[in-house]
Amino acid sequence: MSQEQIPNWDRPAADHPIALEFPATIAVIGGGPIGMEATLYGRFLGYEVTLFEQGEVADNVRQWQHAPMWTPFQYLHSRLGRLAITTQNPKHVFPELQCEQTGEQWLRNYLLPLAETDLVAKSLRTQHRVLSVSRCHYSKQQAVPIESRWQDGFVVVWQDADGSEHRDTFDFVLDASGTFHQQQPWGVGGSPAEGETPLRIARSHDPERRDALHFVAPDFAANPSRWKDSRILVLGDSPQAAQAATQWTRLVGDGGQLVWAVPQSIGSDGLYPISASDRLPARTRLLNAANELIRKHRRQSLTELVPMERMGCDSNAKIQVVANTNLSTILWDGQQKCFKVGLLQWFDVNWDTVPDDFEEPDDVAVMWEFDHVVVALGHRVDEGLTRELIVPRCPQTEAMDSLLKPLLAHRGDRLDFEFTDPCWTRTPEGRFFVLGAKSFGRHPNYFHRLGLQQIRDAFRWIVGRANLDLEQTLQI
Ligand SMILES: Cc1cc2nc3c(=O)[nH]c(=O)nc-3n(C[C@H](O)[C@H](O)[C@H](O)COP(=O)(O)OP(=O)(O)OC[C@H]3O[C@@H](n4cnc5c(N)ncnc54)[C@H](O)[C@@H]3O)c2cc1C
Repeated sequence: MSQEQIPNWDRPAADHPIALEFPATIAVIGGGPIGMEATLYGRFLGYEVTLFEQGEVADNVRQWQHAPMWTPFQYLHSRLGRLAITTQNPKHVFPELQCEQTGEQWLRNYLLPLAETDLVAKSLRTQHRVLSVSRCHYSKQQAVPIESRWQDGFVVVWQDADGSEHRDTFDFVLDASGTFHQQQPWGVGGSPAEGETPLRIARSHDPERRDALHFVAPDFAANPSRWKDSRILVLGDSPQAAQAATQWTRLVGDGGQLVWAVPQSIGSDGLYPISASDRLPARTRLLNAANELIRKHRRQSLTELVPMERMGCDSNAKIQVVANTNLSTILWDGQQKCFKVGLLQWFDVNWDTVPDDFEEPDDVAVMWEFDHVVVALGHRVDEGLTRELIVPRCPQTEAMDSLLKPLLAHRGDRLDFEFTDPCWTRTPEGRFFVLGAKSFGRHPNYFHRLGLQQIRDAFRWIVGRANLDLEQTLQI
């Protein structure tokens, strides 16, 4: 697609080929925090919005609700949301701006009240799982002028709770379907480990496996004795892995054993870079604690690990951390109620610097049993949903292409990133936008305040007014 086919942002609003007069229809995919905020913004402006949510409202946040959050309430709400909630319930009490939140507090203090406001509730369709989004007439490979593509509507195919399929047409689509439900595979190189796929399927309907396999740090505080004498494996390098390992150390400590398998190399300072000027104390606390734990308990090779039954009085074996390790196998033993896990350690070789006679070390493999496994490797994008649309993404990070340059150019904390150019929120599909966590793909440190800026910019395109900003216009 040539640049000439993409209209300039400077074009007068009336001439703008994306914007549509009311009553235009908008489909929002995903009733998470950003889907709800986008719905509110659209309804406030007078659009007909349908908000599709595959489960319950804020379904993904519910999965990790016991987890502490890094950003205080200040960054977790919009003025528009606040106004809508207060209008509905003048007695609603919001937390102080600087108050740190858990996912559960965010739900209770803001997200659920937001879902109950008239503007959101009337648009919300729970148990509506979107299966695909395409243009009404043109598939992706059809060679038509971009203006024709832009004038074409969208078909959203969705499934209800009974599995029946339906379809509706819309003028605009905002994809805010997140990434949390798309866990990265657990094996080496990003492939699924042996036994992983059936285990994931079984976990969705088997409470025993669900109780033993976790995708965020479990709620150790709720019942610390439940974890005593149990063997726990944490796999991952994400902040959630840090959370699981440090919380276990702090809350369970005395009984049991923790192995932390990190799927990448570990430097002498630890795994997580920490900025001296970090503005989020909760983040600094967590990452410092994780680095300290890694420095203290690191084992060079998998073969040095000591299993719990041979641990005796060796208190050093209580927590053991290994680098460059993934799963080769994971099988559930229903009789013993534990996982049989194959761990595989590979060696990170810098081929630029090795001597000619260098012999590549063999991978090291061990088979262990664990009562609990926490997989915290991060998430990836479900690209199938919009396969028939032109949605360029970075092949490495799966972040939206339009976001890549500004993200790479940004030197400071991601929390301070500002959307200063509406083009960063645009896609070649014109009336289709990707918002929230999904737009950042595998990039870590997506923050809610960035999604709120994307909503503002998407509606600048939708309305055709370059200076539209309800957050700034609203007097609260
Ligand atoms: C443990 C943890 C702590 C975090 N802490 C912070 C923090 O401190 N500050 C911060 O700013 N961010 C934090 N985040 C990031 C957080 O995930 C986001 O801010 C926020 O949840 C992303 O919102 P979202 O609406 O983009 O996506 P999600 O919350 O993932 O919502 C997506 C929604 O889309 C629905 N959906 C998915 N597919 C479909 C489909 N096909 N059809 C219909 N519906 C669908 C899902 O069910 C879900 O409800 C944290 C994340 C985690 C996991």
